[in-house]
Amino acid sequence: MEDDVRDAGPARVVFGTGTADRVREEAERLGATRVLLLSTPSQARTVRRLREILNPLPVAEFGGAALHTPVEVTERALEVLRGHGADCLVAVGGGSAIGLSKALSVRTGLPQLVLPTTYAGSEATPVLGETEHGRKTTRSAPEILPDTVVYDVELTLTLPVAVSVTSAVNALAHAVEALYAPEAGPESDRRALEAVARIARALPAVTARPSDPEARADLLQAARLAGTCLGAVGMGLHHKLCHTLGGAFGMPHAATHTVVLPHAMAYNASAAPDAMACIARALGADGSAPAGVYDLVAGVGGPTSLRGLGMAEADLARAAELAVAQPYPNPRDPTREGVEALLIDAWHGRRPD
Ligand code: NAD
Repeated sequence: MEDDVRDAGPARVVFGTGTADRVREEAERLGATRVLLLSTPSQARTVRRLREILNPLPVAEFGGAALHTPVEVTERALEVLRGHGADCLVAVGGGSAIGLSKALSVRTGLPQLVLPTTYAGSEATPVLGETEHGRKTTRSAPEILPDTVVYDVELTLTLPVAVSVTSAVNALAHAVEALYAPEAGPESDRRALEAVARIARALPAVTARPSDPEARADLLQAARLAGTCLGAVGMGLHHKLCHTLGGAFGMPHAATHTVVLPHAMAYNASAAPDAMACIARALGADGSAPAGVYDLVAGVGGPTSLRGLGMAEADLARAAELAVAQPYPNPRDPTREGVEALLIDAWHGRRPD
């Protein structure tokens, strides 16, 4: 059997229901005495609760985390952090709050405790994507990885169904691309396929019963597995395209992943037949893996076209050009014409074969 040794996953993970109640003791384990609480604007209630649980550690709050981690937002938060002499970051929310925590930590060296409330998976990766002047750049370093992750299923119960769907497909995308990554190995394959199977099972259950803690826990575990895949191996064309569409065209992160994934898979299918066969099996799909993902999304009422997300048809050619401007590993060579054809299919929302 091949060896598969990687540095992936956070230093400490607490997973369960009601685990947010332990956040003060977890922060103290990291040496916190002055906590800066980070969140997105819609998380005010959860922030209030955490403030009480963490009492008396919080010295300041910054609720302005935003998609794609804009550098100007990080700079404003940095002023708050320095103004209050914070010595630990506690972020609650999705990839936006966790991205801000990473951006602050990389600039200050402060420890990070994060409580994920979506399925984006950023908590499990040493990767930070930031946007400045309409361009998204990504860096990776071991110290970017959050020190402690507290998953509390209860915090996910309020995630609206539409966001749950797109966020879960964002997680699915990590697992799918991990299966055809050049660094893929037996351990990342195992985790990725388990994530695919769990998402295919748990997502319809969550959309049918959004307040069911069992279904939510299943989906959160799947997202965690998918996040560790994202942290362990490089991503391909699908992620590159979504970064381009988000960074240069302001497209919403998770919804764009949801629309593009079946089409990026269809582009790669002929060059990664084994991965696609495994994905189709894990999805329980009768037909191809790309069609299986498209049907899963359509079946839970998720977005299926870039047109529906407000992308201008006139921008597709430029997006294709940007997405192939620099080489990166992908099973099939990303050509400008091929990627533009893929984007046209995604714009119309055509079901792949
Ligand atoms: P997000 O963090 O912006 O959350 C989406 C929306 O849902 C926000 O309005 C948020 O306030 C709200 N929300 C979150 N949790 C909620 C809850 N439980 N109840 C009610 N509302 C809730 O978006 P996201 O999709 O989680 O993350 C996307 C961002 O994360 C992007 O910037 C993306 O680039 C980044 N990301 C980074 C990595 C990485 O490894 N670096 C991985 C995945 C995503």
